Amino acid sequence: MTALKLFNSMGRSLQEFKPLREGQVGFYGCGPTVYNYAHIGNLRTYVFEDLLVRTLRRFGYQVTHVMNVTDVGHLTGDDDTGEDKMVRSAEERGQSVLQIANFYTEAFFNDTDRLGIERPTVVCRATEHIQEMIDLVKRLEKKGFTYLAGGNLYFDVGKFPAYGKLANQKLEDLKAGARIEVDENKRTPQDFVLWFTKSKFENQALTWDSPWGRGYPGWHVECSAMSMKYLGESFDIHAGGIDHIPVHHTNEIAQSEAATGATWVRYWLHAEFLVMDKGKMSKSKGDFITLDSLVDAGFHPLDYRYFCLGGHYRTQLSFSMEGMAQARSSRKALREKILDLRAAAKDKPLPARENLGSAAKDRLGNFDAALAEDLSAPRALAELWQLLKDPSIPPEEMLAVAFDMDTVLRLGLAEVRRIEPGFDPEKVARIEALVSARAEAKKLKDWAKADSIRNQLKDEGVLLEDGPTGTIWKSATTA
Ligand code: AMP
Ligand code: ZN
Repeated sequence: MTALKLFNSMGRSLQEFKPLREGQVGFYGCGPTVYNYAHIGNLRTYVFEDLLVRTLRRFGYQVTHVMNVTDVGHLTGDDDTGEDKMVRSAEERGQSVLQIANFYTEAFFNDTDRLGIERPTVVCRATEHIQEMIDLVKRLEKKGFTYLAGGNLYFDVGKFPAYGKLANQKLEDLKAGARIEVDENKRTPQDFVLWFTKSKFENQALTWDSPWGRGYPGWHVECSAMSMKYLGESFDIHAGGIDHIPVHHTNEIAQSEAATGATWVRYWLHAEFLVMDKGKMSKSKGDFITLDSLVDAGFHPLDYRYFCLGGHYRTQLSFSMEGMAQARSSRKALREKILDLRAAAKDKPLPARENLGSAAKDRLGNFDAALAEDLSAPRALAELWQLLKDPSIPPEEMLAVAFDMDTVLRLGLAEVRRIEPGFDPEKVARIEALVSARAEAKKLKDWAKADSIRNQLKDEGVLLEDGPTGTIWKSATTA
């Protein structure tokens, strides 16, 4: 297979991917701050990370994917300004921080499951890794990178000459252009908090003992400590949204490399933003679109996945309902095509890659080449369409190649089923309604109701299969 090339934000260039350990990839992606639902902008970034993981697998790597869940320490300003997001959300909703964290963590994975995003190998909560963070901060303190001021422990960026390398900015330029809220305790405006004790954030609900007093960790230190715990002090890939370059990832690098003295991450990948007509979508402002609101508007979650794959991850993607409607009709056309092919291929076995004819082989080769060129999903999707439109390719080859491509695209092509002519449409509608009612019951953890619906359908000869993209049903009268 062609060599995989990725655009490394560190150095701003397209580079051939070479892992630290042969055949293995350690990958860390910054996870959600669980004080609210994820908006579809956040979800775009996670669709991109899923594309990355699936592509790495396709290229033969075994991937260890680690994702954190931020349930403490993330303030409304990434630069330690504002209020604690979790505390504010808990106060607004009259619940504990833990309740808020549990609720939105579950909601997050419910969204990612429906988008066909594979769960990470390791999901780690910040509140369960406080000791690792304290240990890392202690190392920094020992090496002289920290100072205590106003009750908080700060990282002294002036002691780390490479500060700002990822953002391609020198500290002098950053200082000159700083518009950061003045924190009189800081020696340099870019210094950031490693550990909060006495400060303006005294209403923090969760605090822990530490060598610097009872308090809680800064946001950036979470990712450094947790990634090193699960992936080692140097690992292959770190990803996130592009907004994280100037502050969060810049600070993560400074504290990680100051502590270990080694290169922490080799490849940095950043997804561009999903933008709205009105500009940036913001989780903290509250006026944002969620996956559920798209579902309420009549879209399938995978329509949004398709929409995301239509743009390269490094270009801004403009969201619109028209674009979503287009994605929906493309996905519908895809499903219909798959059904036609199924009928045409009858029971012929699907050939393996080496037994494909040259036209199908070429399509698959182009598909891999598109992914190899910095994960070009739009080109990969175009190859799928070209394949399905080529009359010279026999149906069973088309199906084999489409399913193979779908291991990365994850549009649920293999699960598409036709309802046979003559199968009562009213019965179909009733089954679909029961399947949705069961999904709703599962969401509310009403297992008794969910099971009773499953049993009721079973009695009628309808079997349910739960998959990562939802439930599919089969009946004796459907293909
Ligand atoms: P958060 O939960 O706020 O920490 O954000 C989760 C992820 O979503 C981060 O990687 C952000 O960089 C990313 N993100 C935030 N807003 C957008 C957006 N409008 N488009 C794409 N990604 C975003
Ligand atoms: Zn992070």
